[in-house]
Order: sequence, then C-alpha cells, then structure tokens
Amino acid sequence: MLIVQKFGGTSVGDLECIQNVANRIAQTVAQGHTVVAVVSAMSGETNKLVSYAEHFSDNPVRAEVDMLLSSGERVTASLLAIALNEMGHKATSMTGRRAGILTNSWHTKARIEHIDPTIMHTALDDGNIIVVAGFQGIAEDGRVTTLGRGGSDLSAVAIAGALKANLCEIYTDVEGIYTTDPRIEPNARKIDKISYDEMLELASLGAKVLQTRSVEMAKKLNVNLVTRSSFSNAEGTLITNEEDIMEQALVSGIALDKNQARVSMRGVVDRPGIASDIFTALAKSGVNVDMIIQTVGYDGTTHLGFTVPTTEIGDAKNIVQIFIDNNEVQEAEYDDSICKVSVVGVGMKSHTGVAAKGFSTMADENINIMMISTSEIKISMIIEEKYAELAVRSLHSTYELEK
Ligand code: ADP
Ligand code: ASP
Ligand code: MG
Repeated sequence: MLIVQKFGGTSVGDLECIQNVANRIAQTVAQGHTVVAVVSAMSGETNKLVSYAEHFSDNPVRAEVDMLLSSGERVTASLLAIALNEMGHKATSMTGRRAGILTNSWHTKARIEHIDPTIMHTALDDGNIIVVAGFQGIAEDGRVTTLGRGGSDLSAVAIAGALKANLCEIYTDVEGIYTTDPRIEPNARKIDKISYDEMLELASLGAKVLQTRSVEMAKKLNVNLVTRSSFSNAEGTLITNEEDIMEQALVSGIALDKNQARVSMRGVVDRPGIASDIFTALAKSGVNVDMIIQTVGYDGTTHLGFTVPTTEIGDAKNIVQIFIDNNEVQEAEYDDSICKVSVVGVGMKSHTGVAAKGFSTMADENINIMMISTSEIKISMIIEEKYAELAVRSLHSTYELEK
C-alpha cells in the first residue's frame, strides 16, 4: 500500500520524538508499505516565528511571513530524512516546491491549485521514503506560500489525493477524534468512525484536531483519512462517507471556538438595502461574518448584531465606523469575551427536540445565550467566554456522549 503519514507539531516536538517518528515510518516500511511522510514544524516553532515577525511590524509583508514560517517545516523534514538515512533507509526531503505543490499567491492562506507529482513519483520509483515539509507551496511567481495555520493536514491530504494513496494517516497527540476536546472534558469518548460532513462541521466550528480545508479536500478527493496518536498504537478514528457508517449517533460531538468576537449595532436605519450595504462592505474588506441577528424594527431603526473571528474585529470596526459617520448606524459595541459552542450530529436531520435540549442545558446552568444558529446537522450558540468549558461539559453530559 502507499500510505501518507502526517506528523503534527507535538509528534516532532523534540529530537527524541523525531527519532520515534523515524522508527514508526521504518516499521510501516518493514510491513511492505511505501511511505510518504508529511511533517509540521516542531511544536511552538511557528508561533515563535510569528512573534519574531511581529517584533518588527504590526503588519508584516505577507510574502516575507511565508518565507519565514515555511522554514519551521524544513527543519523537521530534513532532520527526519537524516535520521531515516542513518537507519539505513533511502529517504529524501522535499520542500513544497520540490513536491510540486502549486498554489495561488494569497500569502499566509494560499489555496492549492494543482499538484505536479512528477518528482515525487521519480523519487518513489527510486525506492525513496519521501519526507515533505508540510504547510507550504509555491506560487506561480516562484515565491513560497503557506496554507493557513494547521495547514500541514491539508498538505498531507492533497498529496494523498495526488498520489492516489491507499490511506492518509494524521498522527497527533490524541488517539483520534473524540466526542469533544479531551483536554476540556476528560470523559470524552473516542469515535471509531465519523462522516466527512460531521468532521467538517466539528473542524470549522473549532475542533482544531483537523484543519477544516483538509477535511473538505479529503471528502472531495475521497481520501481514506485516519487520525491517530503517534505516542501509542491504539486504533484511531476513520473519517469516511456517511453510508459507510452503520450506526449513526444522534449527536456525535461538541465543538468550542473561542476565537469569536461580537459586533452589536444600535439605531440602524431600517431601509431596504441597509443589510446588503453593510455586509457587502464587510465582505469586500475580507471580513468573514459568521452569525447575524436582527431584531424587529421600531421607530424606523433596528438592531443588528454579528460575529467575526477575533483577528478580524479591527477590520470590522473600520467598516462599521463608515456607517456611523454616514448617520446610518447610531452606535456600535464590540465584545471579544464571547465564544461559540456547537452541537454536531447527522442524526439531528431526522429527530426533533435536539436543539431544545441544548437550550435547556444552558438554562439549567444559568448561561445566557446571545445568538443561535442552526443547520441540518448542527446547533451553535454564542455565550460568554467564561462559561465555555462549563457549557461544553454540560452539553456533553446532556447528550450522554460519554456512553
Ligand atoms: P497537531 O500539532 O498534531 O496538528 P493539533 O494541536 O493541531 O495537533 O490538534 C490536536 C488537538 O486538538 C488535541 O490535542 C486536542 O486538544 C484538540 N481537539 C479539539 N477538539 C478535539 C476533538 N473533538 N477530538 C480530538 N482532539 C480535539
Ligand atoms: N506549523 C504550522 C502551524 O503551526 C502548520 C501545521 O502545524 O500544520 O500552523
Ligand atoms: Mg494541527
């Protein structure tokens, strides 16, 4: 089998860990498989590099940030290749460019446009273990790009797709996908199989165990994806098609996203087109609006609230100020001490009362819900951030996820 094995930051956190990773790859090869490894930077390394850039500028040139950040993954890729060669294996490391990962030029959040696997194929035909530096690609103009935080997951899935690998294993510091973050709820249970769609919801709603875009791509390219621990031999979680899962849980998990901020606008003129004007302006400046709430109008004005990622609150403020200056909004308030808790499960499609149960749980804990949004397979609630962990644990127990 051709297996892509991705090792995250903690899995390559120090030299001893890198040796363990080399041993695991060697084991896989000894079982007769061909391995393409994809590695992250050593844990904490990318954050350290970001802080270096911020030492010089509040708004560093993005192409230079990519040049800087991509170096973290090169360190681990080359070290792992050195370790494997020392063990008597033929191994070669590759930057994003050598691996043929071609992206657009949206520096720091580039999208993969195409993978040219020619060099990888030649290296494999020559009997090499390939070690790819994750998280990076190359733009048309030859500049290095990075794929957004957590992007090594995406590198691995995209490479698995391009090489038509039989399996893509994501090795991390927990044994798989749990019913919620096991660091928040120790009673969280490991899930054996989860559908792409549920995983997509969990990831985009805050479960950082897999990068959202990697799940999207795995679904699109039909990549067999497994998440497991690099510190044990326990079987991980298979992420697969809904039809391949025999027993569907009503609720499969709870996700938490603390990187949320809320904007509340009061005295918004109640005229046709005002929402369109405000949200078009926000979209044009690259602000990702998530939830929106509008109250019933009164006296020719209305209240309008919305949420954005914490990092985009500055841009949102600038836009809202334009409407205040134009006397179309009276005043606005900004609050980043909020969070979003979400309940995810495909079973919700065919059951009623799931949402009501979640709302009662918040009521029992005396937690005020500021905003609600629902889809076929999820319910999200905005609450005060200080209740985040309490809300996750209470919901986990309400839906009996520990069982
Ligand atoms: P890596 O460095 O290997 O990419 P990450 O830190 O990005 O690892 O992701 C793993 C972490 O995701 C875990 O340590 C865990 O705290 C967190 N996590 C959040 N939600 C979940 C979940 N539902 N299941 C498992 N882990 C989760
Ligand atoms: N090192 C990068 C990050 O910390 C990419 C990754 O680990 O997936 O975001
Ligand atoms: Mg990660």
